[in-house]
Amino acid sequence: MPIRLIPCSVLLLSACVAGRTATPATATTPRVDYHQHLVSPAFAPIAKLPARDGRALLAELDAAGIEKAVVLSVGYSFADERKNLPDPDRLTREENDWTSAQVSAAGGRLIGFCSANPMRAAALAELERCLGLPGMRGIKLHFGNGGVTLRDTSHLRRIQEVFGLAERLRRPVLVHMRARGGANYGGEDARLFLSRVVTAAPDVEIVVAHFGYSGPGYPDADSVMAAFGEAADRHDPHMRNLYFDVATIVTAETSPANAALVARRIRQVGPQRVLYGSDLSPPGGSVRSGWEIFRDKVPLTAEEMRTIAGNVTRFAR
Ligand SMILES: [Zn+2]
Repeated sequence: MPIRLIPCSVLLLSACVAGRTATPATATTPRVDYHQHLVSPAFAPIAKLPARDGRALLAELDAAGIEKAVVLSVGYSFADERKNLPDPDRLTREENDWTSAQVSAAGGRLIGFCSANPMRAAALAELERCLGLPGMRGIKLHFGNGGVTLRDTSHLRRIQEVFGLAERLRRPVLVHMRARGGANYGGEDARLFLSRVVTAAPDVEIVVAHFGYSGPGYPDADSVMAAFGEAADRHDPHMRNLYFDVATIVTAETSPANAALVARRIRQVGPQRVLYGSDLSPPGGSVRSGWEIFRDKVPLTAEEMRTIAGNVTRFAR
């Protein structure tokens, strides 16, 4: 009898373990892709990319087994002064309108974020107008594109105004924090962000894109995430509503040492703050491959990976 019982209990145990590790096949697929863009007919020649509408994105999400995506309008891109486009504020408005039309036709699967170059005089009015459009839930800011640095007090004031708008309307903000060209950018910016920007919007969810940098890839000297990690270590209350997306930071070329650094920072801020995102050119060329590269390369436990995949912010519910 014991001879039959032992293998049986071993079988039961392994069935139980298999049952728990079998769910990950689906459970380790992200619930939400937090960093996506579309390519409108107006944006295609600027980005030099083929057009991509909401329907095309939904097909990619289906292929990856992902239910929802956050679609960040690239309206800001038209108002990057280096592009020198005529009537940039009109182009920004038209891009936000087009993005709203795409996301609102997606049956609730696409969550729109409005954008504008925050340094334009028209930015605040445009963001507020856009947040009234169907399907548009949050604000996307791109410091690099707009030439914004928190070290300049006039820039900082403007960013505080945008976060003040988000707070007043209770809307989330996703911010690409890295300064233009990555120059004069580091831990100091993360500390300024926590003490001077987050304080302007204490009640809304804030996502720091690309793990504080810009992708593709992640720097070996990462003073920005080191500063956020230290804030998490000392239980800084400004970290309360902060999230970090990992869009394009891990690629096929990522070294094991760099992937280990990413894992260390994820643990430091906590995997419950880490959101998966693809961006326009995901590693490996598809939404699915981008996730698989991240999942396979970053040395986290299956449980930690499941936490990241399962993270659903309030604004994505
Ligand atoms: Zn992006």
